[in-house]
Amino acid sequence: MTSLDDRTTDDEDEQKEGVAGFMQGARKKALENVEHVAEGAAAGTLPEGKLFDIATTIGDKRLDDLTVEDTTCGYCAVGCRFDVYTDGDEVLATRPTEPEKSPVNGISTCVKGKFSYDFVDSEGRLTTPLVRDENGDFREASWDEAYERVVEGFQDIKEEYGGSAMSMIASSKATNEENYLMGKFARQVLGTNTVDNCNRLCHSSTVAGLARTYGYGAASISNEDFEKADAIFLTGSNTTEAHPVLATRIKQQVKDGKELVVFDPREVQIAEYATQYTEVRPGFDQVWINGMVRYIIENDLYDEEFVEERTRGIDQVREAVQEFTPDYVEEVTGVSPEELKSAAETIASNDRVVFGWTLGLTEHSHGTENIMAMANLAAITGNLGKPGTGVSPFRGQNNVQGGGGDMGPLPDNFPGYQSITDEENRKKFEEAWDCEIDPEPGFYTTEMFLAANEDDLQGMYCIGENPSLSEPGSNHASEVLEEMEFLVVQDLFLNDTAKYADVVLPACSFLEKTGTFTNTDRRVQMVKQVIDPKGDSKTDWEILQDLANRMGREWDYDNTAEIMEEMRQLTPIYGGITQERVEEEGGLQWPCYDLDHPGTERLYTEEFNTEDGLAHLQAVGYNEPGELPDEDYPLSLTTGRVLYQYHTGTMTHPEEGIQDYNDRDFVEINPEDAADYGIEDGDLVTLESRRGEITVPAQVTARIGSGTVFAPIHFAETCVNKLTDSERLDPHAKTPEFKVSAVRVTPVEGEPDVDFETREPVSGDD
Ligand code: SF4
Repeated sequence: MTSLDDRTTDDEDEQKEGVAGFMQGARKKALENVEHVAEGAAAGTLPEGKLFDIATTIGDKRLDDLTVEDTTCGYCAVGCRFDVYTDGDEVLATRPTEPEKSPVNGISTCVKGKFSYDFVDSEGRLTTPLVRDENGDFREASWDEAYERVVEGFQDIKEEYGGSAMSMIASSKATNEENYLMGKFARQVLGTNTVDNCNRLCHSSTVAGLARTYGYGAASISNEDFEKADAIFLTGSNTTEAHPVLATRIKQQVKDGKELVVFDPREVQIAEYATQYTEVRPGFDQVWINGMVRYIIENDLYDEEFVEERTRGIDQVREAVQEFTPDYVEEVTGVSPEELKSAAETIASNDRVVFGWTLGLTEHSHGTENIMAMANLAAITGNLGKPGTGVSPFRGQNNVQGGGGDMGPLPDNFPGYQSITDEENRKKFEEAWDCEIDPEPGFYTTEMFLAANEDDLQGMYCIGENPSLSEPGSNHASEVLEEMEFLVVQDLFLNDTAKYADVVLPACSFLEKTGTFTNTDRRVQMVKQVIDPKGDSKTDWEILQDLANRMGREWDYDNTAEIMEEMRQLTPIYGGITQERVEEEGGLQWPCYDLDHPGTERLYTEEFNTEDGLAHLQAVGYNEPGELPDEDYPLSLTTGRVLYQYHTGTMTHPEEGIQDYNDRDFVEINPEDAADYGIEDGDLVTLESRRGEITVPAQVTARIGSGTVFAPIHFAETCVNKLTDSERLDPHAKTPEFKVSAVRVTPVEGEPDVDFETREPVSGDD
């Protein structure tokens, strides 16, 4: 990659976007000098380097007069670092920090990192607690009154049904310190192990699959390894839209001559850069991955020395993949023998290969098997533990690695993946937290909604998540939320879930608090408060502390550094990580066992995290998706993200500039299928599964293969999760099968019940 040190990039679009981004980060205020810069960038007449430094004012404000603080992005888990320019409590603009403080992004940020800050003080922002009045409507309340209602509601449930009738959904948007307290609050204060988070909906199968094979359920690499690799293999990842800055890094590698192989049901934007793009049918990944493993073993292309010295189980794998001949793979997946061999030979012939994936590989009823098959492929080719080799599951929400996993707001694990079924672990946390802990794991998020249906759960405390839209089979999830005896929602906005709540507590955004996030390559980075909390909102950790103390505990944290200190002493893989070190050293990657440990750039350099230090290759067969197309529902629906939006849109929908680009969901349909069903580009169509229906505009595009349709996940009025299934779960990780649902599509006749008339379909590409 061209040096980041001179703050330049080869990508002309990115240069323009960078400068324009800084300009527009100031919320479209007139910027004379920046207009000049943007014009110069567009015309290519600016000198190379230091483009950002040409801007000296924002509107009528001199940069020198503004407050500047560096922080970590609160959108995706790439973990970009940037400086935030503020005037009082107004966020004016952001720009990437100096490269040495931003190892994962250098000079880049994406459209969300540059522009998406209006949500902080948007009209819908919650600034005071809300409680239900005698008519069942929300009214504003003091913190005292809201806390009293919450404490009374939680205690009533505990007294009548026991603590295990309470559940908690923790927030992967919140800091590590806050998520540590969420796990502690569930076990110590509520007395339940039913605490989980959005990790269950996305990469839990990655965690389960990698942990079984290598020991740690996390990326083995640093993002720098993409630059050290000879070839990159991506599958189930719309990298450009879901992890934009990482995509830029990968695209630069291809421009520099590296090989990129992409297997995906959609010809996603990064596939345009690929040396090989292969279309696959959603739901059959085990088959083509096993086919590659078989081809590599049968043709002696595997790394014999690595397999011999650092793995066990090759004989079982050899036997398990026998049936996955190239012809069989073609018959089941549509991947031709030539494409299969070509990809397998690329992987086997390059010395250093990095494997990346996102939810296309995990959100299946057999996601854990998919991951184990991929882990086998990396291991038999010796692509682990050396620079430029390894596996990288690209995590989604900003802190799902840290807050969603490492910090242990999980039904079966304490922080640092310490199992609650282990007596020693339980004893350690019982002593530290002064409470008894049930040895039985609680319900996973996806199970919570089924358990509540069976009257096994009566109360829920939901922090920074929106299960009413994000859970599979969202009609069912909404019914459960409505029936919940006591529901507390803590969020920035009155989201769809909050509409069912008894009490709503206003929380702070990442710009209003200090703590740490852990990004997708296990890097713990500082998050710093740059503005005061809006209205009467409070940080999640302050709310948890207030509630814990009103429920008889004595928490007395003065700041999040003290929480981090308590957490690290109980969590070996974070044992040497303090906020002071994270700040001084510009981030630290776990495992980091003590204060002298430098952190771990790359896992498995010497041994795997297993009892015998070997990678445990897994014999993986083939499981069909739980619901295949049939006569009634002849198409296969797969879902995903678009660049301009973030999950259920609570943070991006208030952004006028973002909405200009993408203000609704759509469905992509192949031209052949569109012709069969009499659909033209832009037509409104009904998309229907056995669980519900939605009305969306059609985008007719060859980007998606025939027989498959794609719809994004971001809007309430066209919530695609009405179509997905709450009951088809991965048996190991309980991750839902978001990526395969049988649907039918029909043109809308007459007036649609959704008002779309002024809106044009938008492209999902950047
Ligand atoms: Fe933020 Fe992710 Fe965009 Fe980076 S790539 S600016 S972390 S949303």
